[in-house]
Amino acid sequence: MKKFRGVFLKNEKEIGLIREANRIVSRILDELGENVKPGVSTMFFEDICQARCKELNVRPAFMGYGGFPYALCCSVNEEIVHGFPSKDRILQEGDIVSFDMGVVYKGFYGDSARTFAVGQVSPEAQKLMDVTRESLHIGIEQAVPGNNLYDISAAIQSYVEGFGFGIVRRFVGHGIGSHLHEKPEIPNFVPKGMTGVPLKAGMVLAIEPMVTVGSYEVEILDDKWTAVTKDRGLSAHFEHTIAVTSDGPRILSLSD
Ligand code: MG
Ligand code: MG
Repeated sequence: MKKFRGVFLKNEKEIGLIREANRIVSRILDELGENVKPGVSTMFFEDICQARCKELNVRPAFMGYGGFPYALCCSVNEEIVHGFPSKDRILQEGDIVSFDMGVVYKGFYGDSARTFAVGQVSPEAQKLMDVTRESLHIGIEQAVPGNNLYDISAAIQSYVEGFGFGIVRRFVGHGIGSHLHEKPEIPNFVPKGMTGVPLKAGMVLAIEPMVTVGSYEVEILDDKWTAVTKDRGLSAHFEHTIAVTSDGPRILSLSD
């Protein structure tokens, strides 16, 4: 595979396979979303993920990755990412729940995340989800050849901070392809004193803002995985895998 500044450049065939992996992820996320309601345990969603992966003969990308024990990252309210599904965690009216899911299809990875409302949520929770989803799309608009990687970061950061919300620093987006995490890292803020790579057609990027109502400081729970906001304020997470093309950004993690 060709490389530019350490970043793999994918051809149309490879982008097609990454698209297929991400289509599967998107359909699974659709199904998870349809099942979000008060009274459901978060393990129910893990079971759906595993069943669909089996049926479609794809491998869940996260299971075993760095020792992560589940197919699905399921993060409720103050949990930002990497939450464990659990039989004992029952969704309550007013919760928000973030699902982050990945699969491997023919050697290529899909990775996408969405946050859902459980029943009726507070106006603040709704605003947080809306701003996070919109910030992702505003970031994606910058993913065009000739722009700099940090144009994506700056667009997300300024949009989110304009609403007084926080942008998590500890976790960032990433290149993706035949590996789940490839270069470059894609911060959702502009790192001081650093220069991003110029964007080129063929780069495939997983862009994933994590946004908080309060401080962006993170704490990791005793399970060594679950990342929560230090102030225990709400957090939302949206992620798409996209390809940089000469025709502009192409979102690969859509259902059709
Ligand atoms: Mg993800
Ligand atoms: Mg990711």
